[in-house]
Amino acid sequence: MIEVKNLTKTYGAHKAVDNISFEVHEGEILGFLGPNGAGKSTTMNILTGYLSATNGTVTINGHDILEEPNEAKANIGYLPEQPPLYPDMTVREYLNFMYDLKKCALPRQRHIAEICQVLKIEDVYGRLIKNLSKGYKQRVGFAQALIGNPPVLILDEPTVGLDPNQIIEIRTLIKMLGKHHTVILSSHILSEIEAVCDRIVIINQGKIVANDNTAELAANLSNDRRMIVSVAGPAKEVANLISGINGVEEVSYEGSREVGVHEFAIETVNGADIRRDLFTRLAQRNWPLLASGSRAMSLEDIFINLTIKGNGGQL
Ligand code: ADP
Ligand code: MG
Repeated sequence: MIEVKNLTKTYGAHKAVDNISFEVHEGEILGFLGPNGAGKSTTMNILTGYLSATNGTVTINGHDILEEPNEAKANIGYLPEQPPLYPDMTVREYLNFMYDLKKCALPRQRHIAEICQVLKIEDVYGRLIKNLSKGYKQRVGFAQALIGNPPVLILDEPTVGLDPNQIIEIRTLIKMLGKHHTVILSSHILSEIEAVCDRIVIINQGKIVANDNTAELAANLSNDRRMIVSVAGPAKEVANLISGINGVEEVSYEGSREVGVHEFAIETVNGADIRRDLFTRLAQRNWPLLASGSRAMSLEDIFINLTIKGNGGQL
């Protein structure tokens, strides 16, 4: 449905997008995840034909965005980071204006009414956009993207600046739209993407550092188990003892919630099971193991590993 090949965008000497390639299949909800400045908006602006690439190609439903811009763009509904709203128009005026701009051929009244119903903006239809709350403005931005019923929706950080209730509403809306559209959704917030998307592409400093099914990403991560233990004993010596166990990669101190009891997070190599060793060794020193549990690394942990520690693409 969408094919991005070797896309590069440079600003002067700075590579905002650095030779990225990925595909989005029909019906998929793809999460485009990365920290601020990673290159998400730049990529989305190129995908939608608002910005030209320095190098590489984008094909939407078989149409090259440069060679057949009108055909390609007709397939896309775009909600940019800053929705192109006209504050002095009413919602009615604005949606009709966008309808004309997009040269929409669907029956005007019915089509706009349907969109307003889906987005629950019927009650503000006659209001000036500048008087709407942020949540309603965002929904009007969404409405604009849906005009013409394009098969592909590209949504750039659609929940930024919304309150938690509005975020849940928008999330539900995206899931619903995902049933009938191919969606690319960008965010710098992992939990948001994780909740909604089938697949996640992680971008950092213009480069793709991961591209996998959300479920598989999570499964890969659960191989790298992280164990949390509470031990009654001297913090430093306990940490040293744990570090010395075969299969332990990293021990970090998590603090103390009880006098003389310390918590540690232990990362093991390839999911090595150190529980028995740990128990025996602590018992030998008479340092009771008061609690232990394991938890799979969250996507948040992985995201930090990939984008900050910079050991990219090792999933
Ligand atoms: P994101 O949307 O992931 O936060 P952007 O795509 O907006 O990231 O930006 C990627 C990089 O490109 C950033 O380093 C940003 O400063 C730079 N950039 C974006 N637009 C321009 C521009 N018009 N001129 C120069 N640099 C830009
Ligand atoms: Mg952005």
